[in-house]
Amino acid sequence: MSVNQQAHTGPPYGQPQPGYQGYQQPAYAGQPLQGVPQSQYGAYNGPMPGYQQPVPPQGYFPSLGFPSKGSPVSLNSDTSLAPNFIGSLRAPPTSGAPPAVSGASLPSGHLAYSQFGHGDVQNGIPASAAPMQRPPASQPFLPGSAPTPVSQISTFQQYGPPTASVQQLSNHMAGMTIGSTAASAPPPAGLGYGPPTSVPPVSGSFSATGSGLYTPYTASQGPPPTSASQGLPLAQPPFPGQPLSAQRLPAQVPAFAPPPSSTGIGPSSYPPTTGAPRPPAMPGPPLAGQAVAGPPASQPNHVSSPPPPSTMAGPHAGPPVSGLHGAPPLAHPPQPGYQMQQNGSFGQVRGPQPHYGGAYSGTPNYGSQPGPPPPAKRLDPDSIPSPIQVIEDDRNNRGSEPFVTGVRGQVPPLVTTNFLVKDQGNASPRYIRCTSYNIPCTSDMAKQSQVPLAAVIKPLATLPPEEALPYLVDHGESGPVRCNRCKAYMCPFMQFIEGGRRFQCCFCSCVTEVPPHYFQHLDHTGKRVDFYDRPELSLGSYEFLATVDYCKNNKFPSPPAFIFMIDVSYNAVKSGLVRLICEELKSLLDYLPREGNMEESAIRVGFVTYNKVLHFYNVKSSLAQPQMMVVSDVADMFVPLLDGFLVNVNESRTVIASLLDQIPEMFADTRETETVFAPVIQAGLEALKAAECAGKLFIFHTSLPIAEAPGKLKNRDDKKLINTDKEKTLFQPQTSFYNNLAKDCVAQGCCVDLFLFPNQYLDVATLGVVTYQTGGSIYKYAYFQLETDQDRFLNDLRRDVQKEVGFDAVMRVRTSTGIRATDFFGAFYMSNTTDVEMAGLDCDKTITVEFKHDDKLSEDSGALLQCALLYTSCAGQRRLRIHNLSLNCCTQLADLYRNCETDTLINYLAKYAYRGVLSSPVKTVRDALINQCAQILACYRKNCASPSSAGQLILPECMKLLPVYLNCVLKSDVLQPGPEVTTDDRAYIRQLVTSMDVAETNVFFYPRLLPLTKADLDSDSLPAAIRNSEERLSKGDIYLLENGLNIFVWVGVNVQQGLIQNLFGVSSFSQISNTLSTLPVLENPFSKKVRSIIDMLQVQRSRYMKLIIVKQEDKLEMLFKHFLVEDKSLSGGASYVDFLCHMHKEIRQLLS
Ligand SMILES: [Zn+2]
Repeated sequence: MSVNQQAHTGPPYGQPQPGYQGYQQPAYAGQPLQGVPQSQYGAYNGPMPGYQQPVPPQGYFPSLGFPSKGSPVSLNSDTSLAPNFIGSLRAPPTSGAPPAVSGASLPSGHLAYSQFGHGDVQNGIPASAAPMQRPPASQPFLPGSAPTPVSQISTFQQYGPPTASVQQLSNHMAGMTIGSTAASAPPPAGLGYGPPTSVPPVSGSFSATGSGLYTPYTASQGPPPTSASQGLPLAQPPFPGQPLSAQRLPAQVPAFAPPPSSTGIGPSSYPPTTGAPRPPAMPGPPLAGQAVAGPPASQPNHVSSPPPPSTMAGPHAGPPVSGLHGAPPLAHPPQPGYQMQQNGSFGQVRGPQPHYGGAYSGTPNYGSQPGPPPPAKRLDPDSIPSPIQVIEDDRNNRGSEPFVTGVRGQVPPLVTTNFLVKDQGNASPRYIRCTSYNIPCTSDMAKQSQVPLAAVIKPLATLPPEEALPYLVDHGESGPVRCNRCKAYMCPFMQFIEGGRRFQCCFCSCVTEVPPHYFQHLDHTGKRVDFYDRPELSLGSYEFLATVDYCKNNKFPSPPAFIFMIDVSYNAVKSGLVRLICEELKSLLDYLPREGNMEESAIRVGFVTYNKVLHFYNVKSSLAQPQMMVVSDVADMFVPLLDGFLVNVNESRTVIASLLDQIPEMFADTRETETVFAPVIQAGLEALKAAECAGKLFIFHTSLPIAEAPGKLKNRDDKKLINTDKEKTLFQPQTSFYNNLAKDCVAQGCCVDLFLFPNQYLDVATLGVVTYQTGGSIYKYAYFQLETDQDRFLNDLRRDVQKEVGFDAVMRVRTSTGIRATDFFGAFYMSNTTDVEMAGLDCDKTITVEFKHDDKLSEDSGALLQCALLYTSCAGQRRLRIHNLSLNCCTQLADLYRNCETDTLINYLAKYAYRGVLSSPVKTVRDALINQCAQILACYRKNCASPSSAGQLILPECMKLLPVYLNCVLKSDVLQPGPEVTTDDRAYIRQLVTSMDVAETNVFFYPRLLPLTKADLDSDSLPAAIRNSEERLSKGDIYLLENGLNIFVWVGVNVQQGLIQNLFGVSSFSQISNTLSTLPVLENPFSKKVRSIIDMLQVQRSRYMKLIIVKQEDKLEMLFKHFLVEDKSLSGGASYVDFLCHMHKEIRQLLS
């Protein structure tokens, strides 16, 4: 957030900054914390006797299949929430109509400006926020009075001048003295462990196992098989009378008819929808689900292949299709624009797409028969659902009023819409978003629809300043009031009875006595008279101060510690990285997370450097100079000092400054190229154990750890495995050693954040295991270069160090009777089937939870979720954060389809698929995704849409973007890598996506493309986004594309010289450097506008995006085109138009 943005411009923060003071942190009703914890959570979930785990389940989790719902059912209904309400708001006009905004007309058209404004901030982070701020986690709740945030400033003295003397560190342990290093020998020849793996081109034919590639259906081909074509009778009559608005696409037809043998939707070995056993969520070793992945863009250098042939098609023909007003489907006769598809030759005009077919096993023979030339018509891209239009419509319809959470089952505005939230009893969508806000009453219905029921939860999400932070409720020694049986926490849905003496649980119906201190009379409506004075009775989200019962060993915890562990091997030193980190830490340490009205951070810090051996530093305040202790026996790691390793920054300020000055000098002449890795984590873990506290390790690492030590790795990268059954091994860790280590780390509350700076393969899939399972973050800077990458790295580091994080966290999601949380996705560890454990959980991390039925639900009572997160704050306070959400339940499928949220669905599906690659061939995973979505849409067609020609594609209004977004997931680097994507990139991306929230996956899979030359220089707004297709680009314009990891600035060859001069400070197109990592600061309106847009975008994202300048027709353009996701991709991914036709065919097959 703000941190990122100011990086380059802000003043060094050694000094107090004005902006920083604005940062308010409320005081918390704290009690002194002392602590000394250890062991297990005796009490969590525990203090109450008689608690029975909600017995689950047999037959549950393991379902490899895509969401198979499960169980008996029945229905009834009612439910206040008017679907209509949502329906109409969600997506009115069809995408088809190319309003000015969708920019079909590239060149001239003046696109309407959206009020993107600051508004676009998903989590409401104001673009103008001051840097270095850290929003308070929660606010104290003082009944009857407004929270009084206490502003605080950090005004620490400056560092004294660093001691000049370069050392005199004594080496107590190993007897090594590190004075100024003597060695000055040249670097060893072999920096690495081997040549980079060669990268066989993985071009188009990715489906190794595949059914032969089929060529596009062209004029030379014969008639398609007649079998499945048109007019297949629906297996079931359409569900009449569902006034769902729908988007219809034209009949698909003969050419696309699948061959008789086709099993298009056939059982792919992977996720059978029936619910084959699926490996347990996290526990297992290798598959446990870890990994990470890097943006392909990180290696522009690798891009060598020439850009793909331009697919620029002619001007868009075809009238805009109005297709979908919220009106009843019946009102939509086939649109004229659709008629054209009666030939099935989509893609013709757009050029052959040789590899497209390969991806879908279901139609192996497609196009193989000769046939008559198809009519030369094509599906007009402007007539199919447009993400831009949907986003724009939602913004216009829902961006102006606050989203009030008082009503059950309300679908919130899209993540791309800027809106305020008022908590009136349900958690804000910033904390929880669901795939559907109306759940089928029975498992049969759920199974029939195939719509996964999942919630994407971000328990510590950052809120915009305008929204109230969760109140902190202190019930004193008795702790929070809970249901006797299921242990659910007091919440707005608990029902008080018997004059207020008892309450009935909304989750399990058990009746519990109200503790005397908590008793209150009820008013005539049965509501407690203190209803509005108690957050836990009136709000969806709040916090409880936890009692000692919720602490390990029944002792309050100590404040956490941060340990900085720096690789000082040859590469790290030579690249300038070590010096950069040390310089940065000198100032950054003054901005450690702090809480409430505390003067200074309670977090203690420690330092370690390492290559083949580890160096610990004693920075005790009483020392004149830091002392180093070397541990060269890395086989059995221990911490050589207790006193003086973890210190308070203020107390040890001069010693720390001295150390940070000395480290770069000490290792300046190192020749050591080998590193260890596992012992580094072990050292941090042991240090935290010794200090009896939780904490975070910040590890800065450069290479594959090949030095002799536990956790030693070998280079096992092999791109030849791509598209084979062994591809999954690339995502699995090469040893289970790290899984065991992760488990130990979680037990101690030791979270590991990893900053990687690889020049070659370093096995992210294995190195990331501990990070992933401890709730940490991985950052990757391939081919790190000081000039181009330091801003990005420093911004990421600053934000990572300062962001809100909870330690030693355990999360449990309780549900009302009828559904149950059965599966979890994210960065965490699970030792049982219900508790999600995270050594650390920061404000950016999400946990996706899937639900399944275990009984019938009722429309009357709906369904409830309660997410309870127990964690230790940065000051060492033990807290519980509670989020509640109530959903509707339905007996009509139409209600389900009317209340879905496609962005959340895609978030879930991507995570599900990305986990699937650990155990199944990638192709199988892709096929399963397609199959499931086809089933979802077919079910709608069959049960909810009005009768119509079988040839029409009819999409639910809320899901009309499902095909385009799904295609983006299928084409992503994890599921269909291009030749330039490395194994480490894929592992990195895989892990990254697994923790993303809905806003992040949305822009990651469908990047935002803005025509900069259309920006209004006089306003704060962003230019209206356009669709991600090359057809939409004009040679005379400059565009910006962002996906959360990268920002591309694309410059057309015909851009006016004046614009080039204004933006780049050079006089011609050819002089623009494509190695710029920032735009030059020029004093003209266009330059200022573009830079402010970039700054605004940087602030919105959780990571600092890499800026890449792309000139049209330059080699880097291929990289850029990879993100034009509506086009066919070089790696074989289908274009949107082609994919939509393919989906249509799949759906027709299902219906026949
Ligand atoms: Zn209960």
